Amino acid sequence: MKEFVLERKNDWEYYHVPGLTDAGIIHGFFTRRSPVSPLKGREAEVFLDTFSLSDAIALNQEHGTDIHVIGNGDRPSRGDGILLYKRGIAGVINTADCLCVILVDPGFPMVSILHAGWRGTLKGITSRAVGMMTERGAATQRMLALMGPSIRGCCYEVGREVADAFLDAGFPGDILTSVNGSLHLDLKTANAHLVHEAGIGSICDTGLCTYCGGDDFVSYRRGARNARQMNFVAIKER
Ligand SMILES: [Zn+2]
Repeated sequence: MKEFVLERKNDWEYYHVPGLTDAGIIHGFFTRRSPVSPLKGREAEVFLDTFSLSDAIALNQEHGTDIHVIGNGDRPSRGDGILLYKRGIAGVINTADCLCVILVDPGFPMVSILHAGWRGTLKGITSRAVGMMTERGAATQRMLALMGPSIRGCCYEVGREVADAFLDAGFPGDILTSVNGSLHLDLKTANAHLVHEAGIGSICDTGLCTYCGGDDFVSYRRGARNARQMNFVAIKER
């Protein structure tokens, strides 16, 4: 149920957990060989057709903690999280080293998708999303968290002030490692801490580093200034 596989459908190459997709939670962490949101014209049509969706919502991301609950016809423009319980609508987050976290209660069903770079992680966007989901009826014992490809502890050098900000905020020391005298931060471990603290025991991790993981992903730190890759989640239409 929890293993990621790489799949291709039409223009789209993506990692997903087939058991979760089969359970009606459509999701994907796309590689750089796929189109990137904002999708326009024919590309948008192909995306919606390929994944049997009626609509897709993307945001201008700001490294904050604003999470939008999507109801009928809502079109938020800015923010870093999307919470969905309406079927057939995709929440989209673009990344290039930042971590995309997808939270799922398959039994409700309810999902959210989050942009978690170091700033959003430090401000607790993942904890905030769990709280917003449980307030609306999701149950942490049923929930699982998917961790997308991101820059990982192997490659993500940070300054002392960033490291100290995490420790001061109560994050455990194991989110940081010392590599040749410099400090490295692991966004996945930091978000796993937030997820566990919020009461979710189940995490599916792609285990992929965008920086050193080969040619599948764009990496901001490796020089991709404007390029991004797309990630999405949606609840399947009945
Ligand atoms: Zn790496």
